Amino acid sequence: MNFKSIDQLNIQGKRVFIRVDFNVPMDESGTITDDTRIQASLPTIQYALKQGAKIILASHLGRPKGKPESRYGLGPVARKLGELLKKEVKMAPDCIGPEVEKMTAAMVPGDVILLENLRFHKEEEKNDPPFAQNLARLAEVYINDAFAVSHRAHASVEAITRLFPEPAAGFLMKEELLYLNQVMEDPARPLVAIIGGAKVSGKLEVLKNLILRVDKMIIGGGMAFTFLKSKGVSVGKSLVEDELIDTAREVLTIAEKRGVKVYLPVDCVVADKMEPSAQIQIVAVEKIPSERMGLDIGPDTIALFSQALQGARTILWNGPMGVFEMEPFSRGTLAMVRHIVSSGAVSVVGGGDTDLAIHQSGGSQKISYISTAGGAFLELLEGKKLPGVEALKK
Ligand code: AMP
Repeated sequence: MNFKSIDQLNIQGKRVFIRVDFNVPMDESGTITDDTRIQASLPTIQYALKQGAKIILASHLGRPKGKPESRYGLGPVARKLGELLKKEVKMAPDCIGPEVEKMTAAMVPGDVILLENLRFHKEEEKNDPPFAQNLARLAEVYINDAFAVSHRAHASVEAITRLFPEPAAGFLMKEELLYLNQVMEDPARPLVAIIGGAKVSGKLEVLKNLILRVDKMIIGGGMAFTFLKSKGVSVGKSLVEDELIDTAREVLTIAEKRGVKVYLPVDCVVADKMEPSAQIQIVAVEKIPSERMGLDIGPDTIALFSQALQGARTILWNGPMGVFEMEPFSRGTLAMVRHIVSSGAVSVVGGGDTDLAIHQSGGSQKISYISTAGGAFLELLEGKKLPGVEALKK
């Protein structure tokens, strides 16, 4: 990899600014409902502690629109992190300013401070150089361990890197890039992509880029119906983006020219409404009743998709096969987790909902790599360069 990582720097006794992604879900009482992202940052923080560094953590939480809002305060995260590290994590009143500078100047090796939400300042999302300077002033070393925000040119991710001689990656960032770059640049083949989720429009660039790189592509979820309609199938009330039917056809033509086999659903679970209590029925895709919508893949499709995975050496997955949040439409997605795990292939999964589905199925231990990122994961699949990663290469 053409950037440095934390273990290649001397951080002993130094103030180390670590950009982490602590954008965790919380309920109304401020209880963290899923601490995966905090857990994922622990290897870097624990390493820095062992090296005798003074650790300054910075993150955003939610979308506070550039000014303080108590519900987006990082206090609950500091408490949770303290529990996980079994040591005190001091909460700073802000992320910049004289008071924070005083706190960081008084740190001793082994101290951990969490700065308040970066997005309480609108300058963060504007990649504002003076704001980056105020952040940089707090530390002697800069580490980015927030792969999930690296697709954003924000001050704590991009502008700040210019103010340190050797900006470097944390272990989470390094691991994410290692897996994702390998899948995109040099995968063990055959490489099979499974793409699902709601709409073609959300993943158009992903589909167009991946069709040039994969050996097989499986398309499920709501977006499959636009592809089916492009082949002349009547899909009833299923989710269809009529304006993208031509594009779907183009993707299929490119696949054909490249000799990439595309697998579409052959049957589906249909209902008259998207509700857990809806009456369901399993039908072949050619027989979807005009008043019903397809909300999950059916058993024949599961069998077909599982066959397509046989012999795969790498599987890349983004997007559920159906409305997995509702029990009657979750079977296809959960079955795919089982088939991916039993295929023995290197499996890389990411992009928001997919990891949720995997945790729900209890299969998370057996997937080779589950990315913590949503948008950044998708942009990498689109073939885009991520500003936060490019900044580390300079
Ligand atoms: P995405 O963010 O594009 O990956 O989409 C995820 C969402 O797609 C989930 O909330 C699913 O409920 C939804 N979804 C999956 N399959 C279907 C379908 N057949 N019809 C409507 N929505 C679907």
